[in-house]
Amino acid sequence: MSKIMSVCVYCGSSNDVEPGYILLAKELGRKLAENGIRMVYGGGGVGLMGACAAAANDAGGDVLGIIPRFLLQKEQIFEAVEHRIVEDMHTRKQMMFDESDAFIVLPGGIGTLEEAVEILSWARLSLHAKPMAFLDEDGFWDPFFELMDHIIDGKFTPENFRALLIHADTPEMAITALKDNAVMLG
Ligand code: AMP
Repeated sequence: MSKIMSVCVYCGSSNDVEPGYILLAKELGRKLAENGIRMVYGGGGVGLMGACAAAANDAGGDVLGIIPRFLLQKEQIFEAVEHRIVEDMHTRKQMMFDESDAFIVLPGGIGTLEEAVEILSWARLSLHAKPMAFLDEDGFWDPFFELMDHIIDGKFTPENFRALLIHADTPEMAITALKDNAVMLG
């Protein structure tokens, strides 16, 4: 049976967002730690990334940050947790994928979207069967799910892809859904 030991969290690096998003990131970090799940992420100390990692670390969870050298200052590497410094974005993304059994996508910007969509595109090509959940409390990701419905309704992506698209509104629900989908996909 598939087991979820490490979850990669994709999320925004902006500090300027509504406080509720930062609180959700902290809650997710705590829940991952409580569930004994290692958090893998982009290594920064800013925005939702830093909030989630600090909360997981404070709650006694394992955290692995992976950051490219050129972003060390811009994304303010969070040195309190295990981290790896890599040379480019591709290496970072591949390593985050390799180190994880599943993915949670918190609210974020273009970087978050790019990372999530690339992992979904690899699933579409059957390159992996690792589950992904989008997590928000306020419908932040609703437009993305509408776009995916539009794409699937147009038969550009097969109907069975819908089962891979999990939308959760609490960290607990996201973690449970990932475990259920890991069994289904595994
Ligand atoms: P953002 O959602 O734009 O705040 O970005 C969130 C994180 O995604 C940041 O750590 C960015 O460095 C990272 N990121 C941005 N573009 C890419 C990309 N093409 N591949 C992987 N990560 C990215």
